[in-house]
Amino acid sequence: MDTLTAFSLDMRTLNFVMILFSVIYCIGLLLFATTQEKTKGIRLFALALLAMGAGPLLISLRGVAPDWVSIVTANTLIAVSFHMILHGMCQFRGVQAQFAHSFSWVVPLVLVLNLYFTYEANSINQRILVSALSIAVVTLATSFVVIVGKHRDYQPAVFTMAATFGFYGLFMLFRAAYTWDSAEIFQFMDADLVHKLTFLFSIFLTVASSFSMLWLINARQMDDIYALSYFDSLTNLRNRRALDSYTLALAEGGGKPKQSIIMLDIDRFKLINDRYGHVIGDKVIKAVASQIKGTSNAPKAIYRFGGDEFIIVLNNQTIDFALFLAESMRKRVAEHVRVDGMPVKVSCSFGVAESLCDESWDALVARADEALYRAKQEGRNCVQMASEQAQLIVNA
Ligand code: GH3
Ligand code: MG
Repeated sequence: MDTLTAFSLDMRTLNFVMILFSVIYCIGLLLFATTQEKTKGIRLFALALLAMGAGPLLISLRGVAPDWVSIVTANTLIAVSFHMILHGMCQFRGVQAQFAHSFSWVVPLVLVLNLYFTYEANSINQRILVSALSIAVVTLATSFVVIVGKHRDYQPAVFTMAATFGFYGLFMLFRAAYTWDSAEIFQFMDADLVHKLTFLFSIFLTVASSFSMLWLINARQMDDIYALSYFDSLTNLRNRRALDSYTLALAEGGGKPKQSIIMLDIDRFKLINDRYGHVIGDKVIKAVASQIKGTSNAPKAIYRFGGDEFIIVLNNQTIDFALFLAESMRKRVAEHVRVDGMPVKVSCSFGVAESLCDESWDALVARADEALYRAKQEGRNCVQMASEQAQLIVNA
């Protein structure tokens, strides 16, 4: 007995399992979709799986139901189901529906060819060829949609999903080539291994594509949670929690790099709020943040520390660079802040510090804060260096 016979892939059993899986996954995904209002394409994908199981169900009625049900409708339904998956994936991955529409011709073509190869030139092989080729075209297009989708998704999950559809599409091409070359089949349910594998791989497709979809949705939600907890919604800068977790990671990681930090605070911001209201105040904070971000040489690590206060962390940078960057930022804010297209007179004060040997993060921030306080005392709209650094330079 060879290995394949030992596995004894029985077509009727595989057919039944395929139907069962499609119903279970459809119900599961529809229930899951009730809590996923934001995610498009899940419902269509779930219904497509149901249609994908309904096709084999009708095929299993061969001899009991008329041919137009067990052959023509069954095969057309399967073509419709793959087309629905393509549409669902366009929605899910943010690809224009136009792309899926451009494959609409497949369904009527499958219908017409099935009518022809059932009533005019009855041939199971030709019908398999039609099915396999049409499914190959649509699933390879689906794989393409998954890859080129605009949605910024977790790449390993995107790759798994694209590979699943790609593999199935390639198998269908192989099945078509195999059928083209093989002897006429008289009983579909007794067809050989390649056709049995079709059912097995359809079950695999149902499970693997549903799994990747859930994986992608989970990754999107993790991203949302990360953005909500670590980014400030007003300025899109990292927030204080992000800074705390960054400094904690640094402290735990040991090898702390040499750091310089810049602390800045908007001058007399309360007056802006009082005079123009909080809405304009918010716009000013946003505009200041955007000028800081836009300063050349500005790093990514800019944090909104509190209300009108920001911190910039410069790893492996000396105080000279930090002073230079702070001065560029000061000038840029003083000259370029605009709200609703109108120039606004606003300035910031800056405190700059470089980490001393074995200095804790809190001590470094305290020194930058002290320098910022001095900048306010000196009349605002200026940059001050932390005292220890000033001392060291004076002593040098
Ligand atoms: P100084 O030059 O000394 O910094 O004076 P200041 O008026 O800017 O004083 P301070 O920095 O202490 O004031 C910050 C104010 O920012 C207090 C608070 O009402 C306001 N604020 C904090 N967060 C927000 C915010 O998200 N939006 C707006 N519109 N105002 C905020
Ligand atoms: Mg202020």
